[in-house]
Amino acid sequence: MFKSLITLIFCFSLIPHAFAEIKVRWLTVASVIIEDGESAILVDPAWTRPTLLNALGLSRLKSDEKLVESELKKLNITKVDGIFTSHQHFDHSLDAPVVARLTGAVNYVDENSLLISNAFKDPRIKTKMISDNGIIEIGKFKITTMKREHAAIRAMGTKFLPGAVPADFDFGFWQYHEGQTWFYLIEHPEKNILLDQASESRPDLIAGKTKKIDVLIQGIANRESDKVFLDGYLKIYNPSVFIPLHFDNFFKQFDGKDPGRLYGVKFEEILGKIKKEFPQTKVIDPVYGEAYSL
Ligand SMILES: [Zn+2]
Repeated sequence: MFKSLITLIFCFSLIPHAFAEIKVRWLTVASVIIEDGESAILVDPAWTRPTLLNALGLSRLKSDEKLVESELKKLNITKVDGIFTSHQHFDHSLDAPVVARLTGAVNYVDENSLLISNAFKDPRIKTKMISDNGIIEIGKFKITTMKREHAAIRAMGTKFLPGAVPADFDFGFWQYHEGQTWFYLIEHPEKNILLDQASESRPDLIAGKTKKIDVLIQGIANRESDKVFLDGYLKIYNPSVFIPLHFDNFFKQFDGKDPGRLYGVKFEEILGKIKKEFPQTKVIDPVYGEAYSL
């Protein structure tokens, strides 16, 4: 009797830990949802894709609400607490306000994303401003929002739509200017996560904030070279888990099926190099919507 009571108490003592397990799901392009069973943070939702008509200025490039709603349903995402947008290029910003409305999340914005959010003219979309090195607490997550630069697009040899989102933003394809680029240190009692959609590491900007990064989630699309990438956060922090972002072809309309790799991304090549140089790091080849425990 006494023994079974002890076993029961032991089992119950494990429950809070089990609920605090952090899971990450990749949701195309540079979008992930991070959940700990209590709170959920979603970054860069962009299921909606531009069409030729958008680029020609013949129709507005606006979030496809039906598509967003059906993907959220398929993924069983009913409640999100906070949404963040790393910058305002369409492949990062398109669906954030609509996801905020559908899930009840706060859309965490800066001056640029606020213009896009407000263009929906929907009071149900809740917004809150972020600031450089500001801290946002969502459940057990402590998120430090940090400004950084967006590199030139290597395939173009220049920056794509740099500068601020125009004040008269009205869903024009060419109005999705970069705005300000952000990245995130996400601390949690279980793990520290660094989430950076850019491929160029900026350890100087997080120096002094943490010594430990357990999980690195980073864009690989626009890397200057494999070497520069490998010498960045991976080498400095030796994370136990690495999840790449921004490797799928976002020029194709999203239909839930694998759209293939982004042109020139050399996904297998860079993942192979990471596995070889950092054998202690678990490298995840993310499958759309699949949950990975950290
Ligand atoms: Zn992008």
